[in-house]
Amino acid sequence: MLETERRKVVRYGRLLLERNLTTGTGGNLSVFNREKELMVISPSARDYQEIEPEDTVVMNLEEEVIAGSSRPSSEYQLHLLVYRERSDVSAVVHTHSVNATAVSCLNKEIPPLHYLIGFAGDKLPRAEYALFGTRELAENAVNALGSSYNAVLLDNHGLLAVGSSLQQAFQAAEMIEYVAELYVKCRSMGKPALLSEAQMKKVGEKFEAYRQGSSRKEN
Ligand SMILES: [Zn+2]
Repeated sequence: MLETERRKVVRYGRLLLERNLTTGTGGNLSVFNREKELMVISPSARDYQEIEPEDTVVMNLEEEVIAGSSRPSSEYQLHLLVYRERSDVSAVVHTHSVNATAVSCLNKEIPPLHYLIGFAGDKLPRAEYALFGTRELAENAVNALGSSYNAVLLDNHGLLAVGSSLQQAFQAAEMIEYVAELYVKCRSMGKPALLSEAQMKKVGEKFEAYRQGSSRKEN
């Protein structure tokens, strides 16, 4: 069942480790098949190096496990709520990458200091703290994402990135971690100069054109 999606979750899980976006068993990722209304999510507390496609877990929107012998990631509610609320999203990546998580511990948004923040939107918003693995965390994250942001910081926890494919959600997580690193470095020297609303509007338009081009290639 959903063999292609299960292989993708395994492949991008390993990439999370290779690109230093997470360590050990931290972070989780999923893909949603909109036609079948089924999600494939990484299993709970398993090393990404050792996960095989059959270890991933298939769940429906009613939070029932349809296939897979492992337990789903403890953040499955976070993933499912994003798919329920955002019809444009088909993949979710959640990481504890160090720079994004450092900023999340300041309970601060990241302002537009570099155009690559366009992977999230006109800024990187933040979601209020809630205990990991809870419905409350899922609701706070979905509220902060709203209808258009593609990434959000989870206060005192980490980063959530979404996209129309795993490739896009993964790339958003990677780029936002880079922007968070720039923000941390800038703040250690002073305050970064920010891009204006008009400048970010143009960035947004270019990103939209780029996203449409790349999803045409993927389909
Ligand atoms: Zn987490």
